[in-house]
Amino acid sequence: EKADIGVTGLAVMGSNLARNFARHGFTVALHNRTKAKTDALIKDHGDEGDFVPTTTAEEFVAALERPRRLLIMVKAGEPTDAVIAEFAPLLESGDVIIDGGNAHFEDTRRRERELREQGIHFVGTGVSGGEEGALNGPSIMPGGSAESYGSLGPMLEQIAAKAKDGKPCTTHIGPDGAGHFVKMVHNGIEYADMQLIAEAYHLLRAVAGYSPAQIAEIFRTWNDGRLDSYLIQITAEVLAHTDAATGKPFVDVVADQAEQKGTGRWTVQVALDLGVPVSGIAEAVFARSLSGHAELRAASRDLPGPRGTTLDEKAAARFADQVEQALYASKIVSYTQGFHQIQTGSEEYGWDIDLGAIASIWRGGCIIRAAFLDRITAAYASRPDLPSLLSDERFAQEIGAAQEDWRTVVAAAVQHGVPVPGFSAALAYYDALRAERLPAALTQAQRDFFGAHTYRRDDREGTFHTLWGGDRSETKAG
Ligand code: NDP
Repeated sequence: EKADIGVTGLAVMGSNLARNFARHGFTVALHNRTKAKTDALIKDHGDEGDFVPTTTAEEFVAALERPRRLLIMVKAGEPTDAVIAEFAPLLESGDVIIDGGNAHFEDTRRRERELREQGIHFVGTGVSGGEEGALNGPSIMPGGSAESYGSLGPMLEQIAAKAKDGKPCTTHIGPDGAGHFVKMVHNGIEYADMQLIAEAYHLLRAVAGYSPAQIAEIFRTWNDGRLDSYLIQITAEVLAHTDAATGKPFVDVVADQAEQKGTGRWTVQVALDLGVPVSGIAEAVFARSLSGHAELRAASRDLPGPRGTTLDEKAAARFADQVEQALYASKIVSYTQGFHQIQTGSEEYGWDIDLGAIASIWRGGCIIRAAFLDRITAAYASRPDLPSLLSDERFAQEIGAAQEDWRTVVAAAVQHGVPVPGFSAALAYYDALRAERLPAALTQAQRDFFGAHTYRRDDREGTFHTLWGGDRSETKAG
């Protein structure tokens, strides 16, 4: 019997995806650079379904039903290129290579282009949900040709997470690098979500005076409302956890430095190139970098700050409600920014991405899964050409209702000396978009002054320059 799909790269992600396919009745060929991982998978889980273990690349390829479907789950970057170089010569026109690693979408575009010349479909695919998701149902974001989705899609729909309405959390995202681009922005939004939640915690602790256990309770209540999400839920669990060795709240014994693997950074780098203001995601990435500068932080610890006062019990409870409003409003902004980036990328690269469908496949399996995403799907369903999530009537209304409390929270943070880069960047974005006039006119005038960069006027067509060094008369430029 030939295999429906082959998986090469059997570390945590690859072996769990292979098991997921097998559990859904597919025959799965297995391959790994070092045979030990293949053997271990067969030994530990061989009874979960039909596996075809192989040793050499030739054996692996020969085990696959044609057109062949070959999933690569190896370390992103050069290892992926090495594996493609090993297998591509053994494949034929019409075969499909799927890269489920965390590739940069530009690499995916390049690989797709190169393999297309050989007639091979290359499907760069975002996979979110970590090892647990890979086994029990991830959110899957495949790019590549529509033709490849025709043969691969039904299989992915089987192994993907299912949203509450039963719909699979996967869809054809768009050509070449679209899937990895969307996965990248997903991770950027994940960074922003995590930062906002961390800021809410920090405020509840430093301003309202709540303990981690009390904050866990507050987060549990929030999780029953509109903030219902995987990240809020796990935050409550982390905050309620006590360190066995010391008896202290677990969050107080963990070194206060957040690391990163790079997809958040990519999101911001790409956003800078595309000219999309993803300030919330950028602040989240910078907050992690700042946390890691231990010496800089130690050297700055004695800098003066405001006199701290904590709130009484009643005021604290009121403040907690306000923080919920601020968190929700800021969350709307970070999704607005992330979707703006996807929309811009889609236009730039001609991907024609369905934004509502993206929100829909993030409802299950992935790290940012949340009830909230239903609202984004609904917003794009009622108006597919929505210029921004903030222009959706319902989001505009909700953010309008939250904005007074949001301001109160940011002001309280400033007064107490608690850094809230996520909340305040989100609020600044909101106020900037609202503003009738920004000081951008002044910035442009400065540019004209020192660099003769010219300016346009609201009242007349054309480009102008003022002779700042001379009689300050205006000339028509170009
Ligand atoms: P790793 O990223 O740790 O990669 C290990 C696997 O890559 C092993 O099978 C290893 O083979 C293989 N490998 C490394 N270099 C080469 C090479 N030069 N040639 C052939 N094989 C090579 O494994 P993960 O399972 O954590 O992740 C796999 C991919 O999925 C990565 O791209 C990752 O970014 C992505 N991903 C990971 C998630 C996670 O939560 N971990 C979530 C979503 C995506 P060997 O056994 O021989 O060393």
